[in-house]
Amino acid sequence: MKIGVLALQGAFLEHIEILRGLGAAAVTVRLPKELQGLDGLIIPGGESTSIMNLMHSFSLVQPLKKLAQSGVPVWGTCAGMICLANEITGSNNLKTLALMEITVKRNAFGRQIDSFETDLNIPALGKIPYHAVFIRAPVITGAGKSVTVLAELVDGTPVAARQDSLLVTSFHPELTGDHRFHRYFLKMASGK
Ligand code: GLN
Repeated sequence: MKIGVLALQGAFLEHIEILRGLGAAAVTVRLPKELQGLDGLIIPGGESTSIMNLMHSFSLVQPLKKLAQSGVPVWGTCAGMICLANEITGSNNLKTLALMEITVKRNAFGRQIDSFETDLNIPALGKIPYHAVFIRAPVITGAGKSVTVLAELVDGTPVAARQDSLLVTSFHPELTGDHRFHRYFLKMASGK
């Protein structure tokens, strides 16, 4: 299975290492031609404004949208989640890929607690709590009917969701030793 990780900016190397450790062929993606033949694509965490600007500069926006619309699974972590959302609050004129029916608030936790870790109950991953690392994280403030929320904070705020072949997480699954989310995505990519 061949998984691309968008490598324009942000935490892409960590994803590649984990995917390779799980037996997938993981490749960096910077050019449109590198999207060919992928079974899945990860848009990593980082800075969504930079990632979107670079996607425009590298002419990746249209081919990436086409890839996602053809049903190839795409997973956005943190800034990647912002890139996939069709509506953003807390940001001036960020032009996203607008692929997923979610409204996302950037930097939702403000300056006081802009980074934190917490255990989440994620039924899709099994019974053992999932330790999640949030770094200047966005949250989902609205979701369309076709979106399934996979994880919430204790106050009910959605922080992971899926819409068909699109997956988003507010947090950074590439920064812990728990690789269940990567396994979950590889299953999506294998069509299971
Ligand atoms: N705050 C960043 C943004 O708005 C996202 C942070 C992250 O990806 N860790 O793009």
